Amino acid sequence: MNHATFRTAWRFEAFTQACAAAGMARVSVWGDEVDRIGVTAAQQVLQDNGLTVFGYNRAGPFLATTKAERADNLATARREIDKAAALGADHVLVFPGRLSDGQKGLCSARRQVAELLVPLLDHARACGIRLALEPLHPMLAGDRSPLCTMAEAIQLCDQLGDGIGIVVDSYHVWWDPALDAQIALAGEKGRILGFHVNDWLVPTRHLLTDRGMMGDGIIDLAHLHEQVLAAGYQGPVEVEIFSDDWWGRDPALVLQTAIQRCESIFQNVESQHG
Ligand code: ZN
Repeated sequence: MNHATFRTAWRFEAFTQACAAAGMARVSVWGDEVDRIGVTAAQQVLQDNGLTVFGYNRAGPFLATTKAERADNLATARREIDKAAALGADHVLVFPGRLSDGQKGLCSARRQVAELLVPLLDHARACGIRLALEPLHPMLAGDRSPLCTMAEAIQLCDQLGDGIGIVVDSYHVWWDPALDAQIALAGEKGRILGFHVNDWLVPTRHLLTDRGMMGDGIIDLAHLHEQVLAAGYQGPVEVEIFSDDWWGRDPALVLQTAIQRCESIFQNVESQHG
């Protein structure tokens, strides 16, 4: 379970308690909530609830106009990687951020992402933690990430070497006609680090905060799950729903609904809701 599914309806402590009570072994967390209570307290809360951290959000944003800004952003991203490592996270999500004011097209932003990932990955390797690229839906290319396809993410991993992989988020990649082949290729290369699930609603009313609960939209999630399993992915199915609608509901009901949907859609889902 990813904490973003509940946001402030459950703070870090309540979220981890509820996930532990539901029988989960792993959670994915956000740096701002860790900062709210501090790394040491967060470690304690996780330990008390018998949970480990799967994904840590996030390193970035780091795209910027000037060299000085980029250096500042890299320093901040390194500190996030340090925190993720302190929490024993499996991987840190990479979040490039928005284009600079006045910038046209994605070429230079893509170049910058590839360049800035080199020092960031060096730092992650030194901390013993993996970086995870998450291709985002192209409607977010201007303000979140110029990295939009599995193909680009695989190519970046090839360039960068060890210690970096890809999180497949159904919301972001479901539309890609090359998706099945790209998932197979990413699996062959041992690059799939995570599998995020949610759904695409029709109509979608907001770019960021109108994701659907699994089963309420048009993504063929069972097929996608089969693809990542066939590609050798053995990690958890991670629920990540950014939704004003679900954030406004009783968090216990959101959790229960998410678990039920996972159990009905993902035939091979781990019995422990890992
Ligand atoms: Zn995601």
